[in-house]
Amino acid sequence: MIPQSFEYFRPETISEAIALLKEHGDGAKILSGGQSLIPMMKVRLARPEYLIDINRLENLQYIKEEGGFLKIGGLTREADLETSSLIRSKYPIILDTAAMIADPQVRNLATVGGNLAHGDPANDHPATMLALGAEIIATGEDGERTIPITAFFLSVFTTALQHGEILTEIRIPIPPAGSGGAYFKLERKVGDFATVGVAAQVTLDGSGICRRAGIGLTNVGATPIKAVRAEDLLVGKTIDEQQISQAAQLAAEDAQPSSDLRGPAEYKVSMVRELTKRALVRASERAVR
Ligand SMILES: Cc1cc2nc3c(=O)[nH]c(=O)nc-3n(C[C@H](O)[C@H](O)[C@H](O)COP(=O)(O)OP(=O)(O)OC[C@H]3O[C@@H](n4cnc5c(N)ncnc54)[C@H](O)[C@@H]3O)c2cc1C
Repeated sequence: MIPQSFEYFRPETISEAIALLKEHGDGAKILSGGQSLIPMMKVRLARPEYLIDINRLENLQYIKEEGGFLKIGGLTREADLETSSLIRSKYPIILDTAAMIADPQVRNLATVGGNLAHGDPANDHPATMLALGAEIIATGEDGERTIPITAFFLSVFTTALQHGEILTEIRIPIPPAGSGGAYFKLERKVGDFATVGVAAQVTLDGSGICRRAGIGLTNVGATPIKAVRAEDLLVGKTIDEQQISQAAQLAAEDAQPSSDLRGPAEYKVSMVRELTKRALVRASERAVR
């Protein structure tokens, strides 16, 4: 099939883009990497009348540490994450995540902002951003507002972004010394969406006690899931085999997968348990390195 016809705009500034979104109302959609929107348009699951291409907007493609945050511009490509020396040296959990998304062709175009704004529970960055305690910066006609990642994913393909807002930045508090994270994903074949994915981020103090834990689950519910009970269990304890096993059990209990072509629900729950263990082991190893 071919997409329904649409009018195409390519604004040069954020304010121009926001004005176009306002002018054309609900019929308008933002186009960034196009790696989710264009496939949906081709099967007419999405039928925007006006496409506002934000690829020309300046200063939205960056990865930098500033003011206590790792800041990632909304138009930053997955490939930028993979080649960033900052991400490679300090944020292996983000590298794990980006490197498992689709294939190099998709990653050259797909943006981190689009991955989150799309609100697809099968996408990989949402779980990682939940584990890292990220914030989303949305820019609209009244300026910027900050949305905690825990309040961002509302339901399938629905986020807290309002019409007329552009996701311009992702902010991640710079983890203190003694922190480490990892993302594990089970996929049917390389490049597939996750059957199940688990992101884990921990901070250990000098005695090896866990001071912060973040755990996010991919594709086991209508939204990405923050495994809060598992996180709470780990804080204040030494992360050993027993604690990891108990946390993994709690994370598995919080998963709400459906049976589909990627496997029965019970299998996915078991995989959450197993991948949570693996992610916590790797995160702890990275934390003490
Ligand atoms: C073959 C294939 C395999 C894939 N496999 C994976 C995978 O394994 N894991 C994974 O996570 N993803 C996967 N994807 C999805 C890919 O990562 C998408 O590109 C990404 O989810 C959306 O980013 P985008 O920049 O392409 O957004 P677009 O497709 O341009 O937009 C997606 C949606 O988000 C909105 N949007 C985009 N940017 C913004 C913004 N800055 N502000 C507000 N709204 C915005 C658009 O209006 C649209 O509704 C795959 C895609 C393909 C084609």
